[in-house]
Amino acid sequence: MMPDVKEVLIPSSEVQAKVRELGARITEDYEGERPLLVGVLRGAVVVMSDLMRNIDLPCELDFMDISSYGSGTSSSGVVRILKDLEEDVTGRHVLVVEDIIDTGLTLSYLMRSLKARKPASLEICALLTKPSRRKVDLDVKYLGFEVPDEFVVGYGLDFAGAYRNLPDICILKEEVFAS
Ligand code: 5GP
Ligand code: MG
Ligand code: MG
Repeated sequence: MMPDVKEVLIPSSEVQAKVRELGARITEDYEGERPLLVGVLRGAVVVMSDLMRNIDLPCELDFMDISSYGSGTSSSGVVRILKDLEEDVTGRHVLVVEDIIDTGLTLSYLMRSLKARKPASLEICALLTKPSRRKVDLDVKYLGFEVPDEFVVGYGLDFAGAYRNLPDICILKEEVFAS
């Protein structure tokens, strides 16, 4: 896989340090509570797995699958719930965990849907954000890194289903998209 990589944007060591920092903040902010972490499949699986082990509280996790992208690299603006939560979030402290916020359309749809279920609190933790691409306003309480307007892969993020298992956050060579 590494021969397909043009550039390592954020090395694994920096990602791990950031996730530890986010976990510590969440631990402090949710003291005495039992938060429900809601991961957005499939990209958030890796950050969710590392993040939860850095939260020193009893917490639960659940997943949703929402689609606004096909296998390509541009937003369709079409959002569908492919898999809903197993848990009832009414009265729960819900923390949505995302890999990356691009236009924000996916997450803003998800937040509306979750808010309607009357959680006790509802916050966002996103590892990455591309501020230059934002189309809707989102209040992201726990943010990892801002990235430039480039298509990134690794640490859960895919291109056409591949590269999720790269430990670093990377930019692919142009020829990979062309093939
Ligand atoms: P949004 O609705 O914010 O435009 O898109 C969010 C979703 O699009 C992310 O959760 C992710 O699945 C996908 N996405 C956006 N930008 C990138 C990117 O640079 N790389 C990858 N692999 N996926 C992205
Ligand atoms: Mg995602
Ligand atoms: Mg994807």
